[in-house]
Amino acid sequence: MKGISKIAIIGGGIGGMCTAIQLKKQNFDVDLIEINSTLTPVGAGITLSAATLRAFKEIGIIDQILQEGGILNLVELYTSEGELIGQSPLQSAIGADELPGGVGIIRTKLAEILKNKLEDLGVNIILNNTINEISQTSEQVSIVLKDGEQRVYDLLIGADGVRSRVRNLIFPEFKGSQFTHQGSWRVVVPRLLENCAIFLGKELKAGMNPISATQSYLYILDHIEKDEIIDPQQWSKLLSNLLSEFKGVISDIKAQIDQGKITLEHIVYRPLSVHLMEGSWHKNRVVLLGDSIHATTPHLASGAGIAIEGAIILSQELAKDQSLEEALTHYQKRHFERAKMVIETSVKLGQLEINNGSKLEHRSLMHSTLDALRQPLTV
Ligand SMILES: Cc1cc2nc3c(=O)[nH]c(=O)nc-3n(C[C@H](O)[C@H](O)[C@H](O)COP(=O)(O)OP(=O)(O)OC[C@H]3O[C@@H](n4cnc5c(N)ncnc54)[C@H](O)[C@@H]3O)c2cc1C
Repeated sequence: MKGISKIAIIGGGIGGMCTAIQLKKQNFDVDLIEINSTLTPVGAGITLSAATLRAFKEIGIIDQILQEGGILNLVELYTSEGELIGQSPLQSAIGADELPGGVGIIRTKLAEILKNKLEDLGVNIILNNTINEISQTSEQVSIVLKDGEQRVYDLLIGADGVRSRVRNLIFPEFKGSQFTHQGSWRVVVPRLLENCAIFLGKELKAGMNPISATQSYLYILDHIEKDEIIDPQQWSKLLSNLLSEFKGVISDIKAQIDQGKITLEHIVYRPLSVHLMEGSWHKNRVVLLGDSIHATTPHLASGAGIAIEGAIILSQELAKDQSLEEALTHYQKRHFERAKMVIETSVKLGQLEINNGSKLEHRSLMHSTLDALRQPLTV
C-alpha cells in the first residue's frame, strides 16, 4: 500500500506477534511494543482448533506447533463416573485437510515459537515499554512511550488485549466487558488419556486436552455470582471441591492436588467476560485487533484463533492497492461476523451450562459453530 511503511504494534500477545510476522513478511518496517519484560509469559495450556491451525499454516509456524503440541483427533465423552459413552472425530479445516482437527499446546511454548519467527524475520521488538499518549494528523500518528520517547508511524495497531490502553485512548466511550457468571479453571496435569475427554457432571463439565507427549490440561468452568479475584492461596482447595463429583482419571488428578503434587504454579483461575466492539474498529491511523475488540470465553477454544485470523486479514488488506481508510474498513467487514459468531455462541453455551439446559442443544450449537469456522475466510 502506498504511503504506509512504518507500523507500530502495541501488545506482543498471540494477535500482536502474528500481525508483526505477517506485516514483516510484506516488508513493512514493524516495531512490536510489549509492556512485559518477555514475549513468553508462563501460562496454562491452549487448544488450537482446526481453523486456528489453518491460520498458523498461513503464519508459517505449523510444523513447530505439530512437533511440540499434543495432536487432537478425537473427543471422548464420559459420565462423571468415568464411563465412556461416546466419541466424535475432530475434522480438519477446509483448505488444510492434511492438518489434524486440533492441537493442544502450552502457551509459553506457542509464544516461544512465535518469538523465534519474529526474530528470524528481524522484527524490532521493544520490551518493558508502553504508550502514554497518541496523537494523529492526516499524515502520521505520533506516540509517546512510557520512557518519554516520541516515535512517529504511518499506522498504529492496538493488540494490547482485553484492557487495551490503545482502545481506551482512542475510544474512551467504550463501555467495557460483560461478566458471564462463569469462572475458568485450567491446570497443567500429567497426560493420562490419549484423546480429548469431556466428563459430564450433574451441573459442571470437566475436560482434559493433551498439550504435549507427556502433559494435558484439565479445565472446568464454575458458576459464580460475582466477578471477583479469588486469593490464589484458596485455589487448590476450591478446585479440589469442584472436582469431587468426578471419578476415574479426574479423581486421580484431584488426589494429586490434595497431596500437593499439583501445586499453584500449575493452576490458572479467572472469572470470564466478553465484549465485541460494534462501532468502527479504527480511527484514522489507529486500528484495533484481537481481544482489544473481540474478547470471548473458552467454550469454543477460538479466541486466539480469531485474533490470528484478524492478523491475516488486516495484513492482506494492507497489501492491496487501496487507501488506508478502505483497507481498515474492509478488514473489519471481512472479520466482524466470524468474531460475532464466536462470542455470541460462547455466551449461549455458557448460559446453557449455568441453567443446566439441554445437553443436546449444547452439543449441536458447538458442532455447528466449529463447522462454520472450518469454512474458508471471506476474501
Ligand atoms: C480462560 C481462557 C481460556 C482460553 N482458551 C483459549 C483456547 O483454548 N483457545 C483459543 O483459541 N483461545 C482461548 N482463549 C482466548 C485467547 O486467550 C485470547 O483470545 C487471545 O490470547 C487474544 O490474543 P491477543 O493478542 O489479542 O491478546 P493477549 O493475549 O491478551 O495479548 C495482549 C498483549 O498485550 C500486552 N499489553 C497489554 N497492555 C499493554 C500496554 N499498555 N502496552 C504494551 N503491551 C500491552 C500484554 O502483556 C500481552 O502480551 C481463552 C481465553 C480465556 C479467558
